[in-house]
Amino acid sequence: MLQKREKTIAGDERQTLDAVVVGAGAGGLYALLRLKREGRTVRLFEAGSEVGGTWYWNNYPGARVDVPSLEYSYSFDRALQQEWVWPERYSAQPQLQAYFSHVADRYGLRDQITFETKVVSAEFDESRSLWKVRTDGGEVVWARFFIVATGPLSEPIFPKIEGMSTFKGTSVHTGRWKTDGADVAHKRVGVIGTGSSGAQIAPELAKTARKLHLLQRTPAYSVPSQNKVLDAQEIAHLKSNYDAIREHARANRSALGIDVNDVGAFEVSEDERQRIFEERWQYGGLGFTAAFGDLYLDVDANKTAADFVRQKIREIVEDADVADRLMPDTLIGAKRLCVDNGYFQMFNRDNVELVDLRENPVLEIDETGIVTAQGHIDLDVIVYATGFDAFTGSILKIDIRGRGGKELKAVWDSGPRTYLGLCVAGFPNMFIVNGPGSPAGLANMVTLAETEVDWIVDCIQSIDRQGKSEIEAIQEKQDCWGRTLNEMAEQTIYPLANSWYVGANVPGKPRNFMSHLDYPEYVRSCRASAESGYADFRVE
Ligand code: FAD
Ligand code: NAP
Repeated sequence: MLQKREKTIAGDERQTLDAVVVGAGAGGLYALLRLKREGRTVRLFEAGSEVGGTWYWNNYPGARVDVPSLEYSYSFDRALQQEWVWPERYSAQPQLQAYFSHVADRYGLRDQITFETKVVSAEFDESRSLWKVRTDGGEVVWARFFIVATGPLSEPIFPKIEGMSTFKGTSVHTGRWKTDGADVAHKRVGVIGTGSSGAQIAPELAKTARKLHLLQRTPAYSVPSQNKVLDAQEIAHLKSNYDAIREHARANRSALGIDVNDVGAFEVSEDERQRIFEERWQYGGLGFTAAFGDLYLDVDANKTAADFVRQKIREIVEDADVADRLMPDTLIGAKRLCVDNGYFQMFNRDNVELVDLRENPVLEIDETGIVTAQGHIDLDVIVYATGFDAFTGSILKIDIRGRGGKELKAVWDSGPRTYLGLCVAGFPNMFIVNGPGSPAGLANMVTLAETEVDWIVDCIQSIDRQGKSEIEAIQEKQDCWGRTLNEMAEQTIYPLANSWYVGANVPGKPRNFMSHLDYPEYVRSCRASAESGYADFRVE
C-alpha cells in the first residue's frame, strides 16, 4: 500500500501511514516485520540508538536470559531458527543484542526505523479515524493504527533517597547501563536491589571490584541456571526437534518448555519431595517451581519449596550469620524467581559484604557514599538494581488521548484496564504488545509478542477486507476480562506478594495484578475473537 500524502489547510505536507509502531524490542520489531510483509506503510520510533529493547538497554555485566535461548527467540521463520546459533543454554546480553540486530538486517527493517526518537504524544482524531503521533523531535505523523510496543519492563525506577544527587562517584541503573554504564574494576561498588537484575549483576561485578556491598531490603529466592555452553551435537539435536520444542512450550501456561509436575507437594513422601526438588535444582532454571502442581496455589505446598531453597542457602553460604540474613521469608515465586549464576556463592568472597537494610536502613546518600544506620559506606560507584515501573510506566510516559480527547492516564487512574491485553475501550485502532492484561511478565515474551502481533495484523487485514475503518474494545467486555484476570489470580499466591506484578514496587501505584496467568487459555480467547470476526469488538 502506497504511503498517502496530502496537503493540510495550512499547506504542510502530511504523511498518512497505515501504522506507527513505538519501540524496537522483540514486540515492535516483529510488528514492523509483519506489517511490512503485508505491504503496509509503517514507521517505527525507538528511543534507543539500536534495536533490541530490553537487550539494548540492559547491557550490564552478567545480563542474560532466565529462560532457554532456543525458546526465547522468534519462531515465525524456520530458516532463521536453523541458521541462528545460540552458544549457551542461557545466552548473555551481547548474543541477544546481536540476534535482534540480525533480525533487523535480515528482514530489511532498518529503513522504517527512526532511532533516538521518542514518541511523546498520540491523539485520536475522531473526524478522520486517524492517530496523530508526535515525537520529541517535533515530527508529526498520522496513522490509521497506533501500535504501542514500549515494553513491560523498560521504564527504570530509582528509589527516593535523600542526597542521591550529591554523590560525586558514578550512579547507574541496570536498566540504563547502555548509556550510563560504569567500569567497576578495582573500585568500591554499592549495589542496591536483590531482584533478578541485582542477583545477576552483583556476582559479575564482584569478580573485579575492590569491594562490593550488596544492599538488601528483601532477601530473594534464587535458583541456579546451571547454564552451559551448548556443543555442536546438542545444538544439532535441539534444532532437529525445534517444531516439537515450540509445540511443547506453547502448550504450557508460561509458553516455556517447562515440565510441570501435576502432582501435589504433599501427595508424595518427604524423601520423594526432596528428591524431586534436588533434581530440579540440579537441572536449573525456572522449572524449579514447577516441581509440584500446587506450589503457586497453596501456601503450605509453597513452603516446602521455600524450605528447600533456604536449606540450599545454608549449605552454600559459609558464614552462618550472612546466610541467616540472606534467608527469604516470603512465598517463593510470588515475586519472580531469580535465576542466577553464582549469586549465593558470591557471599563467600572476601571482597563482598551484605548490608541488611532491614536492620541497618539507608539514611542518606552523600558525596562519597551511602550513610546507613550503622555508618558510612565509602563508594566509587552506586548501582541501582531497583527495577521498573512495570506494564504501565512506558505507556503512560506517552500522552495518549483517545475518543473525546480522553487521557489514557485518567482512564487507567486506578490501574490498567484492557481487553485481551491488546486494546482499550475509548482508544480505537490502538494496540498494545506485551501489555497489561496479557500474559506478559509470566510468559515467554518473544512467543507472546509473536502471538499478539499476528493477532493485530490479522485484525487490521480483516477490518480492511470488511471495508471498515475502526476497531475498538467494548467497555463491558473489557470489564469482564478484568474480572476474569482477577479471579484467576486470586486462586494463586501471586497477589500475596509486594511485587512489580501488582505494582507494589512503585510508591502510590494502584495495586492490581496485571497479568493473564495462562498462555494457552489466552491464545484461545484471542483466537475465538478473531474467528468470530471480532464480534466482541465495535467495528465500524
Ligand atoms: P522492550 O524490549 O522493553 O522494548 C521496548 C522498546 O520501546 C525499548 O527499546 C524502548 O526504548 C522503546 N520505547 C519505550 N517508550 C518509547 C517511546 N515513547 N518512544 C520510542 N521508543 C520507546 N523476559 C523473558 O521472557 N525472559 C527473560 O529471560 C527476560 N529477561 C529479562 C532481563 C531483563 C534485564 C529485563 C529488564 C527484562 C527481561 N525480560 C525477560 C522481559 C523483557 O522485557 C521481555 O522479554 C521482552 O524483551 C519485551 O519486549 P518488548 O518489545 O515488549 O519490550
Ligand atoms: P525488581 O525485581 O523489582 O527488584 C528490585 C530490587 O530493588 C528489589 O530487591 C527491591 O527490594 C530493591 N529496591 C527497590 N527500591 C529499593 C529501595 N528504596 N531500597 C532498597 N532496595 C530497593 O527489579 P529487577 O531486578 O530489575 O527485575 C525486574 C524484572 O525484570 C524481573 O522480575 C524479571 O522479570 C526481569 N529480569 C530478568 C532477568 C533475567 O534473569 N533474565 C534479569 C533482570 C530482570 P524489595 O524487594 O524490598 O522491594
